[in-house]
Amino acid sequence: MTAKLIDGAALARSIRQQCAARAKTLTEAGRQPGLAVVLVGDSPASAVYVRHKINDCKEAGIRSVLDHLPADTTEQALLARVRELNEDPSIDGILVQLPLPKQISEQRVIATIAAHKDVDGFHVANAGALMTGATGFRPCTPYGVMKLLESAGVPLAGAEAVVVGRSNIVGKPQAMLLLQSDATVTICHSRTRNLAEHTRRADVLVAAVGRAKMITADMVKPGATIIDVGMNRDENGKLCGDVDFESVAAVAGAITPVPGGVGPMTRAMLLVNTLEAAERASAGGT
Ligand code: NDP
Repeated sequence: MTAKLIDGAALARSIRQQCAARAKTLTEAGRQPGLAVVLVGDSPASAVYVRHKINDCKEAGIRSVLDHLPADTTEQALLARVRELNEDPSIDGILVQLPLPKQISEQRVIATIAAHKDVDGFHVANAGALMTGATGFRPCTPYGVMKLLESAGVPLAGAEAVVVGRSNIVGKPQAMLLLQSDATVTICHSRTRNLAEHTRRADVLVAAVGRAKMITADMVKPGATIIDVGMNRDENGKLCGDVDFESVAAVAGAITPVPGGVGPMTRAMLLVNTLEAAERASAGGT
C-alpha cells in the first residue's frame, strides 16, 4: 500500500470530544442539548444504528429520547408524534430512522419535521439551504466526508472531484458541498457512460453506490484521494466498501478504509448537527 490512510475513526473520536465540551457548556448554562430518535418497527440493522446514536449521545453528554414504535404504526400516528417533538422545547434535534415501513411516506415524515430540528439535513428547506449557501443542516455523511478531506489537507479549489452516486442523502449533497469548496464536480450514476473515463480524471473520488469493490485500480488516477462511502458485504460476508481497497491503495495518494472511514464520521456529524441546533435554540433563534 502506498496511499496514506485517512483515519475516520480517530477524527470522529476527536470530534466527539469537541462535542462533549460544547454539550457541557450548554448544560452548565442551564440547557442540556436533546436529541429525539424515532424508530419504527423491528429491523435489526436500524436497531443497531439507533443504539449507536443513543450511545454516542450519552458519551457526549447529550440527552437522548428513544421512541420505539411498532411496525404497524400508521403514518398519521407517526406524524402526530413528530409534531409533538417539534413543539417540545427540550428537544433540539429529531431523527426518524429510515427506512420506514411501507405504509408510511418517508417524504411526508421528513417534510413534517421542523427544519430547524432536522439534524439529518433531509428536509427540503435544508436541501435548499445547501443549494443556495444559506444556513441549514448538512446531511451527516457528506458533511463527514468534507471533514475527512479537510483533515487530510486535500486541496479542493480547482480540483477535479467525481462523485459516483446521486442519492438525496449522499451523492447530491456531496457534490454540492464539493462545489461550495470550489472543486469542479462531476456526478456519475447508473446511466453514466464509460464510468472509468470520469473516475480516472478525479483528483478526489467519492464512491457512494452500494456495490462491493466496484472501483478498481484501473479506474483511479495515480495519487488521487479516494473516499469510500459504500457499506457492503463481500463474498465472505465481511464488511467492505465500494472501492477495491487492496488494489486501489497501491495507486491512490490517500484513501479511507471500510470500516473506520466514513462510517464513524457520519455518526459524529449527527452530534455536531444536534449541538448546532441546540446552540441556535439557546441563542434564541430557530
Ligand atoms: P442509493 O442506492 O440511494 O444510491 C446509489 C447510487 O449509486 C444511485 O445514484 C445509483 O444511480 C448509483 N449507481 C448504482 N449502480 C451504479 C453503477 N453501476 N455505476 C454508477 N453508479 C451507480 O444509495 P445511498 O446513496 O443511500 O448509499 C450508497 C452507499 O453508501 C451504500 O453502500 C450505503 O450503504 C452507503 N452509506 C454509507 C453511509 C456511511 O455512513 N458510511 C451512510 C449512507 C450510505 P441511479 O441514481 O441512476 O440509480
